[in-house]
Amino acid sequence: MSILITKRRDAAKGSYQKVMNVINDIPSSMQLLLSCNDVDLKITKLFDHRNIKTNDLGMYDDNKKNITVVTSFYKNGLCNKVDMQTFAGIVLHELGHSIDYGYGGLYDVTKNLMEYIKKDIKKLPYRHRVNFNYYIYNETEMWAETFVYHAGGSMILGLPRKYFAKYFHNTIMETNKRLHTLIAKLKKEINLNDDGYIEGSWS
Ligand SMILES: [Zn+2]
Repeated sequence: MSILITKRRDAAKGSYQKVMNVINDIPSSMQLLLSCNDVDLKITKLFDHRNIKTNDLGMYDDNKKNITVVTSFYKNGLCNKVDMQTFAGIVLHELGHSIDYGYGGLYDVTKNLMEYIKKDIKKLPYRHRVNFNYYIYNETEMWAETFVYHAGGSMILGLPRKYFAKYFHNTIMETNKRLHTLIAKLKKEINLNDDGYIEGSWS
């Protein structure tokens, strides 16, 4: 895989393994997308953050092609660990961004996605709309969250996956189609044989 994982010295013990566990749980077709896309993933700790939100716990920098994920953070002088479910969601979300940018970005992968999202938002109960409007009115963010779903994450947009699937049916169908178009293109390019053995090199 061409994901380079770096654990900063301040990162929590075992955090490298945590990231590997998240990646290993991703379905193999999705792993193909990740392994053909260069990205550096850095694991670190966040200091002195008073009003921390979930979106402070992960970041994707499309210029540097790197992801930063936070394993623990300090709030009012106390160290808080990010729970595993949240951490997995953050890693997958940022990987979703890296795929968006790595394979064409706004001009291709997330193009006109808002059309489908808008259809779904109509069915979304008002309380969820209010909680997640940062994500649902932004197609790159929705792409990243929907990637969490396709990669097997258990909580998406703060909803258990079966509720996410219920509310975001159109977005899920459309992003699934786009992901599989990408996968088919990659398989052709890297000369994957019938047994799924990958003969090409990643470089
Ligand atoms: Zn995001």
